[in-house]
Amino acid sequence: MINENINVALIGNPNVGKTSVFNQLTGLNQQVGNYPGITVEKKIGFCKLPNNIKANILDLPGTYSLNASSIDENVVIELLLNKNDKLYPDVALVVTDVENLKRNLLLFTQIKDLEIPTILVINMADRMEQKGITLDIPYLEEHLKTKISLVSSRKGFGIAELKKQIITYKTISSEPCLNASVIDPEYFDSLRKAFPSQLLYKLWLVITQDVNFLNLERKEIQSSFTKSHSDLKRLQQKETIKRYQFINDVLKVGLKVDIAIAKDFRSKLDRVLTHKVWGYAIFFAILFIIFQSIFEWSKIPMDFIDSTFANLSSLASKNLPEGVFTSLLSEGIIPGIGGILIFIPQIAFLFLFISILEESGYMSRVVFLMDKIMRKFGLSGKSVVPLISGTACAIPAIMATRNIENWKERLITILVTPFTTCSARLPVYAIIIALVIPDNYVLGFLNLQGLTLMLLYLLGFGMAIFSAYVLNKIMKIKGKTFFVVEMPNYKLPMFKNVAINVIEKTKAFVFGAGKIILAISIILWFLASYGPGKNFNNADTIQRSKVENKGIEESEMSNKIASFKLENSYIGIMGKTIEPVISPLGYDWKIGIAIISSFAAREVFVGTLATIYSVGGSDNEDTIKNKMGAEINPITGKKVFNFASGISLLLFYAFALQCASTLAITKKETNSWKWPVGQLIFMSGFAYVVALIAFQLLK
Ligand code: GDP
Repeated sequence: MINENINVALIGNPNVGKTSVFNQLTGLNQQVGNYPGITVEKKIGFCKLPNNIKANILDLPGTYSLNASSIDENVVIELLLNKNDKLYPDVALVVTDVENLKRNLLLFTQIKDLEIPTILVINMADRMEQKGITLDIPYLEEHLKTKISLVSSRKGFGIAELKKQIITYKTISSEPCLNASVIDPEYFDSLRKAFPSQLLYKLWLVITQDVNFLNLERKEIQSSFTKSHSDLKRLQQKETIKRYQFINDVLKVGLKVDIAIAKDFRSKLDRVLTHKVWGYAIFFAILFIIFQSIFEWSKIPMDFIDSTFANLSSLASKNLPEGVFTSLLSEGIIPGIGGILIFIPQIAFLFLFISILEESGYMSRVVFLMDKIMRKFGLSGKSVVPLISGTACAIPAIMATRNIENWKERLITILVTPFTTCSARLPVYAIIIALVIPDNYVLGFLNLQGLTLMLLYLLGFGMAIFSAYVLNKIMKIKGKTFFVVEMPNYKLPMFKNVAINVIEKTKAFVFGAGKIILAISIILWFLASYGPGKNFNNADTIQRSKVENKGIEESEMSNKIASFKLENSYIGIMGKTIEPVISPLGYDWKIGIAIISSFAAREVFVGTLATIYSVGGSDNEDTIKNKMGAEINPITGKKVFNFASGISLLLFYAFALQCASTLAITKKETNSWKWPVGQLIFMSGFAYVVALIAFQLLK
């Protein structure tokens, strides 16, 4: 990080539009990483201010107060306590929602008490007129001892002014709002005397919160100022009350709401969307439309990408001099990259819909709606968010469980989340559905393929719920929670937020998973192009000297040689070794190879088959899908991808834990190998049995 840049920290309650302000300030100049040692997401962006001044904008996790109850909130406190941190803000922007000022200001007063220059950003100003809200900005600035920026990150107004205010951060007051002595004069005065060089409110945080404080040992402060847990709690409550008294006094003059104007559209809509019948009906209808659209809309771009890469491959093999490099390019690298890019349309559409649901405020209604049901299964309403974000990827979803306060509910959510259909399964589903489910319409408008896809998603979700139920019965961990959920206002989704989210997620897929896919494609190409022993090296002579091969055409001959070579290559031998275990599920050794390689990540499955069929066939012009569709099992004489084996594969991928990263994250979040190993054995064992039964019944 460059030192001359102004360090700006964005702080705020969840749902106040902090991300939108961040996006407005930084555009696509964002870097996402993790805080050292923990998995909380760290977002830093860069912003150009007037006069050629630059700022690093740090988007801190949403937090209600500095009384931490989650790891995310700890991150905020630790940063603000440690002045030596290179991210320590020169200026803090506390973002608030004009409609929830009173509640949002609690955090603001706490940040002020840390004596950091603070700008109060009052967001969603576009809603003031409709809600009949007026603010007396000069009065508020004077009494809150701050500068105020009234902005609408949706409409983009106020952002330019905010940038100007950031530049003048040195002139902003860093005076505290609340004198801690009013909480308990005797206690705080003695604390002040004991550590005269320290900020009183910092000391108080170190005593009450489970955080590190670089300059002083926490133990040292705590041991000389011990109080019983209940005494501390009482003082904390008193602190909160004092803060709200202060806020109320200021807002009494500074904020006016004309109730007659405030319309009650929201509560009407809430009543329908969280209704015990309509609520669910609407939720399922929305899901249904989403899955239909993902399939319909992605068809054209996917076909285009598929055929483009097939053409590139054949172009390379026809025009470049024959040799190892050409073969690596046309049979390893090009199909590998194609195997990544082809999923972009579906992933982008999925995220488009998810971010629209989140942005509009609807997702919170779903959380509320589902809480009652989830509770019956040992989950919390808050588990809906991990379960739904699990449709993207289990890794961030498992990380998102940190909001769940109760350990048992959290552990169960972690364990069952990998059952939800992640985007890595989508490629596998997409190609197999396209091969074995007819592209027909039932009742004239229901696309059968879209319907199958939706059923698979429901199956994953159902399995997650069912396993949660079982785990809840088996596990003996106690604890109670109270359910609190934010109900943000309904809003039209902001294009910029949605677009950035879609781009970020797609990029994460292409560069994260993509790297693995490409690397595995190249390894596979090697394993499939070389083999041990005589059979592989003398494939040509062996095939030509076989009696039954006499007199066949040259093109057919070279196909025979190529597939004989593949069978005797390293990978062929591996596939053949596991064939006895998987043939009862309807898979041949080639699919076996794909299953082995896709343990690293599911999406490798299709790329693997693409590589194997490119190496195995003499013709690179055809698309992956056509090659898979044409594959015949030499023993049964039937298509390899038929209805029975297709369904069996779909079920196998629905349940099996084919993902090394999920294991890693579960280990990290549960801090034990016991849970990930259990997860692996149970999920993959179950997958095997279900796929076996399905194939045996359908064949
Ligand atoms: P965060 O949770 O604080 O990061 O909030 P987000 O940036 O995700 O925004 C929460 C919701 O508020 C989203 O639906 C945004 O579209 C909406 N929102 C953000 N800024 C504004 C604004 O200035 N005006 C209005 N009306 N809505 C906004």
